[in-house]
Amino acid sequence: MTDLTKLVNNQKELYYAGKTMTHTFRKHQLQKLKSMLKRYEPRIYEALNKDLNKSSYEVLMTELGFLFQEIDETSKYLKDWMAVEKVKTPTTHKGAKSYIYKQPYGVSLIISPWNYPLHLALAPLIGAIAGGNTAVIKPSEFTPYTSALLKEMIEETFEPKFVSVVEGEKETTQELLNLPFDYIFFTGSTKVGKIIMEKASQQLTPITLELGGKSPCIIDEDAKIELAARRVAWGKFMNAGQTCVAPDYVLVHESIKQDFIKQLKIEIEKMYTANPIENDDFTKIVNAQHFDRLLNHLDDSKVIFGGASDRNLEKINPTIMDNVTWEDPVMQEEIFGPILPIRTFENVSELREEIDHARNPLALYYFSENSQKQEWVMKNLSFGGGCINDTIMHLANSNLPFGGIGASGIGNYHGKSSFEAFTHRKSILKQTTSFDLSFRYPNSNIGRKVLKKLFK
Ligand code: NAD
Repeated sequence: MTDLTKLVNNQKELYYAGKTMTHTFRKHQLQKLKSMLKRYEPRIYEALNKDLNKSSYEVLMTELGFLFQEIDETSKYLKDWMAVEKVKTPTTHKGAKSYIYKQPYGVSLIISPWNYPLHLALAPLIGAIAGGNTAVIKPSEFTPYTSALLKEMIEETFEPKFVSVVEGEKETTQELLNLPFDYIFFTGSTKVGKIIMEKASQQLTPITLELGGKSPCIIDEDAKIELAARRVAWGKFMNAGQTCVAPDYVLVHESIKQDFIKQLKIEIEKMYTANPIENDDFTKIVNAQHFDRLLNHLDDSKVIFGGASDRNLEKINPTIMDNVTWEDPVMQEEIFGPILPIRTFENVSELREEIDHARNPLALYYFSENSQKQEWVMKNLSFGGGCINDTIMHLANSNLPFGGIGASGIGNYHGKSSFEAFTHRKSILKQTTSFDLSFRYPNSNIGRKVLKKLFK
């Protein structure tokens, strides 16, 4: 028996012992998670700085702050979420009562990526604990300092048969995928998402897939240009563009294109300085492989801002590319870096065809002051979720289920949705034994009459 098989077996044992079933246990574990993060806060800043050169401001806002909020909110409402729900029962079922029980899946596997390596490993864990599951976390091999710290923190805080971190390359993930997990929560690329889904299908393991895609950011002719430029610059270049919901490309109305680009350049310099490569607070590209991949997207003849890079520091300045076509390399895949291609449109009716080049993006952002057009875009285009007149902020509202559609993912989480992602809604009908209505049974004369009346 391999160590990983033993680990999963031990977690199954703890789960079947019923230890995770009570509200007290789950709430206590969530509090332990929060104090762990507080205790290790300085080391978390250090690890994320080593892996990605993340500034403390970004760590607090996009990693730790998010987790603190999720833990607090989950702890506050968990009892309500766990409660058995009573639902209506039709008159055909006289004497019976109907309930929905919130059944944990059991032993869960959480596979996370490198771009927010703490947040994306632990946000699903909050859902797993709240839902009454045990968890094995497989963090990304591309952020070794954070992954090692995750392992150290979790080992010090939880029994391995409740929560465990398994480090390793993709082969380790594949080995894990062969084990009998009861639920898999995967965050990563669409390409690997397909592998995960194929593997899960062999044991029909329920899954959530949080994937990526090319998220458009549309700036219409009546948008407030300065505000739009500021919010796009912030959402795109935070974490050096390595954000699943970052605007991948801009679709700006032809009539305001020049004004928008001018303002965008101003906002980028205000936020990140004239040469962010030299700015200690500007995030680096995760590794040389991704650095080279991004440089291959650059076409000097189309770069109208930025474009400079430093291979030693693995940093690329915020870059704008103009006159980009869907044939250009930069439009062939999710960019996931600080390069912003600009395309234009003249009429809202063109948007669907434009966006369908990279169908079902994870996010879509629409800037306009016209509420009718806002409604049209929200109702008629297909994407995971998004904002009107902002970027990224939808992700930070725990009342909004966060997830993709089709190529950008299956399922969703955050807040109550995380609890729901990690639990099965088990429908139960509790029948009375005080009487037994005979009309449902065959060969009953009144049965036929009653049924005819009921199902007219
Ligand atoms: P990735 O898919 O390459 O890797 C994610 C995880 O899968 C890692 O832990 C890795 O070890 C594992 N993995 C890689 N190849 C594998 C294989 N062949 N078999 C089994 N496991 C394998 O993704 P990434 O590069 O770490 O992250 C970037 C991607 O993640 C982007 O596409 C981004 O949009 C997406 N993402 C999505 C969200 C979201 O919430 N929807 C959040 C962050 C990132």
